[in-house]
Amino acid sequence: QSKSNGRNMLHFFEKNMQVEIDQRRQLRAELQDAIDLRQFVVYYQVQVDTVGKPIGAEALLRWPHPTRGLVPPAEFIPIAEETGLIEPIGSWVLETACQQLAEWAQQNSTKHLTLAVNVSSRQFKSQRFVEEVITIIQRTGAAADKLKLEVTESLAIDDFQDSIAKLHDLRNKGIQISLDDFGTGNSSLNYLTKLPLTQLKIDKSFVDDLPSSVRDAMVAQTIIAMGHGLELQVIAEGVENREQRDFLTSHGCQAFQGYLFGRPLPVAEFNDSVACMLSENEKSVIQSRYRRQEEI
Ligand code: C2E
Ligand code: MG
Ligand code: MG
Ligand code: MG
Repeated sequence: QSKSNGRNMLHFFEKNMQVEIDQRRQLRAELQDAIDLRQFVVYYQVQVDTVGKPIGAEALLRWPHPTRGLVPPAEFIPIAEETGLIEPIGSWVLETACQQLAEWAQQNSTKHLTLAVNVSSRQFKSQRFVEEVITIIQRTGAAADKLKLEVTESLAIDDFQDSIAKLHDLRNKGIQISLDDFGTGNSSLNYLTKLPLTQLKIDKSFVDDLPSSVRDAMVAQTIIAMGHGLELQVIAEGVENREQRDFLTSHGCQAFQGYLFGRPLPVAEFNDSVACMLSENEKSVIQSRYRRQEEI
């Protein structure tokens, strides 16, 4: 009895594993097709300053799959990373983002925007990475100082000397470097403080329960203070409500990204929404100036 149960169990696991392997194999083949058929799209999520004025965006990859719908990056980026397909995909995102930056430079409402692009570990480890970024900037005519590359702690710490050299080369070209998902890795501050960064990005997981979680409030405050000490801009991601924004603002956080300000959008909708936010922002700035004058 128990022996046959065991055999059934084993059979069950084998079957499940086989299903998973088949699914991954299929996704991998479809990823290759997606590259060939140019199925990927870049969405843009707005980043704002403390008065709600749009100052930049993050480029976020989307895969509108012909039958599965919009596949989230969390599902296909890891497979792309494993299979090496992240290299052509990452190059395409960078090229698309830089073209967009060059286009934004032509419009009054968007010419001041920076654009952050996520860099995967495998992409960053390529010996051609820095050269590729520079070539793309030259080819597209994007301003290097408006481009921001987002790297994670683990990516930067792995092969530390090589990372430092690459990041310095990028900084020397004027490219900005943001440390994404800050606080979630397990790297020591001793390492992190040696990286040539321009921005710290507080991870969403520390923002979610602000301001009520005493622990997260402490973590967020500490990250902001550390950012100031290191002369880095601090941005918070995943800001969904005013209480979170107000808490972060009162502790000196300078920039925000999250559903409170805007979701990731296709470029046409993003451009419209930025134009709208800017004019709303101007109105409210003028109003507050009036109010101040009346008070005097
Ligand atoms: P990330 O770089 O930390 O990006 C932030 C994620 O948080 C995005 O998810 C964004 O849509 C989401 N988000 C922003 N604000 C809010 C909010 O207020 N509430 C909630 N619930 N979520 C919010 P997304 O687009 O699904 O991307 C997930 C991850 O996939 C990214 O995390 C990034 O690590 C990776 N990724 C996305 N695009 C690319 C890419 O082009 N290249 C690489 N290598 N990775 C990418
Ligand atoms: Mg990011
Ligand atoms: Mg992030
Ligand atoms: Mg994150």
